[in-house]
Amino acid sequence: MAPARLAASSVLTDRLRVPRRPVVPHAAFLTLELALVATLALSVVSSWGQVRPAPEPASPATASQEGVRDPYTVQVTPEMRHHQAWDDGLYFGGAVLGWLVLLGVLGLGVSRRVRDLAARVTARPLWLGMATFGLLSVVLFIVMLPFEVLEGFVVPHRFGLSAQGFGGWLADHAKALLVEVVIGAPVAALALAAIRRFRRWWLALWLGAVPLVALLMVVAPVVLDPVFNDFRPLRDASLRVELEELAGQAGIVGGRLYEVDRSRQTRTMNAYVNGLGPTTRIVLWDTIIAGLDRAELRFVMAHEMAHYVLGHVWYGLAAVLGTLGVACWAGQRVVDAATRRWGPRWGFLVPSDPAALPLLLLVLGVVVFLATPALNAVSRTMEHHADTFAVELTRDGDAGARAFVKLAEGSKKLPDPHPLIRFLRYAHPTITERIAFCRSYRPWESGQPNRSFKPYP
Ligand SMILES: [Zn+2]
Repeated sequence: MAPARLAASSVLTDRLRVPRRPVVPHAAFLTLELALVATLALSVVSSWGQVRPAPEPASPATASQEGVRDPYTVQVTPEMRHHQAWDDGLYFGGAVLGWLVLLGVLGLGVSRRVRDLAARVTARPLWLGMATFGLLSVVLFIVMLPFEVLEGFVVPHRFGLSAQGFGGWLADHAKALLVEVVIGAPVAALALAAIRRFRRWWLALWLGAVPLVALLMVVAPVVLDPVFNDFRPLRDASLRVELEELAGQAGIVGGRLYEVDRSRQTRTMNAYVNGLGPTTRIVLWDTIIAGLDRAELRFVMAHEMAHYVLGHVWYGLAAVLGTLGVACWAGQRVVDAATRRWGPRWGFLVPSDPAALPLLLLVLGVVVFLATPALNAVSRTMEHHADTFAVELTRDGDAGARAFVKLAEGSKKLPDPHPLIRFLRYAHPTITERIAFCRSYRPWESGQPNRSFKPYP
């Protein structure tokens, strides 16, 4: 239930691989990476035994003596703890692995060779930039594939969260690569041209990113999302009427509500707002429609409406652009210095050389990663406002609390993660915080005014 995270966030992800000629250092590098992933995979497999055998005894805190469970308390199981540990480990491990791979691509001369290969086909700078980006994307895709399989397929299957076979998963993954190259290649070529042209190129990159990010947010729901799933107006007519009536109370009218067939991929539940301006929409996964009752769905819908009514998409856009500004500013300093220091060894003398693309991606990636806790803090504030809005609109915080219990148990995430994990990773308040708020916040009972929801006249 996040306001649209930048649709472009997957465009500049860290992926890579090797050139056609077999070269020993690359093989050594690949072996190292495979060993790392194999170690991770082995520990998943070895953990199966620890988790599988013991069925959870119902704890006294979560079930009454008659065995009827408390719908307001998340049942924390060892499997859930285990999944959370895997999820966190893959998040941090994946970031570090991605950086190491980009460093490897530079240090082992892969980047230089890919550029030389592209240069055999074209000498025009824009085409050369695009071709180098495209080839590098394929290289990164192949090198990162074992890790991606572990993170996106093995672990979700191990914890019963995936509904997709390997073929379908791989097809989706390949589509993502295609989308990344189609969007990323021209962007990378233009970025290199700006670096070549301007002395303070960080400013040019940032200013260029503003319309690009806005455009990507506008087209994401109508062009990018349909590549992976089918979107359609809510099929359940009575639910649609009920939710549209709820939307009307907040002034949202006409065709903004969609469902998506995420049950093709996952057993987890979610809903989100994305798009910008004319394409802004609320999307419910079909899994959440199937998994929640009417009152719970009304609460989720009200929460998503809040993101729309309170303009959170625009705040999100501003936060992303601010972060990108910092990333570009810091990026020029680090990239220029690294090019002077190591460029000759890596095969380029200026940062506008296409062979320097992995360096750019590395520096931008690290800065954005470091900025994520700040972005998350902004996001947590907006999410709390959206919960406040939803309680005030529905006056049924209990339904919201029950929905959060189902969401946490459905995704096997801890309701109360370690504070450091919350700080580093959580774009939402913790489930425990949200349940406590939903169950206690009742301003209408004491005649207090609403903080977020203003009825539409
Ligand atoms: Zn939300």
